[in-house]
Amino acid sequence: MSRKKVTNGQVRGIARKRMAILVRMSEEEALRGNLERAKRYMGLARRISVRTKVPMPEGALYCRRCSAPLVPGLNCRVRLRNHRIGTHCLECGSVRRRPYLRETKERRTCREER
Ligand SMILES: [Zn+2]
Repeated sequence: MSRKKVTNGQVRGIARKRMAILVRMSEEEALRGNLERAKRYMGLARRISVRTKVPMPEGALYCRRCSAPLVPGLNCRVRLRNHRIGTHCLECGSVRRRPYLRETKERRTCREER
């Protein structure tokens, strides 16, 4: 039995497509209120990401701890504080903080121009 060789590039393409599908399905399930299934789908997408070393699709919001897709107003709270974006997962209570330096810098340069 001979197996057809699949190149790394092909693997990446397949991974990207399947991750996009899983992320979309996960968000749809979350909106339907089926969070267990949503977490499962997001978990599968993350597993593909780890195995293939392909980053998760851009714009996919998910909790690093419980893999729940984060939909603002449904299961996550987004707050700005101390020049940081705080994203709270309301499923497991984990918080993720990320600075927004670029926007702050832009505002500063605007002020200097005046
Ligand atoms: Zn969580």
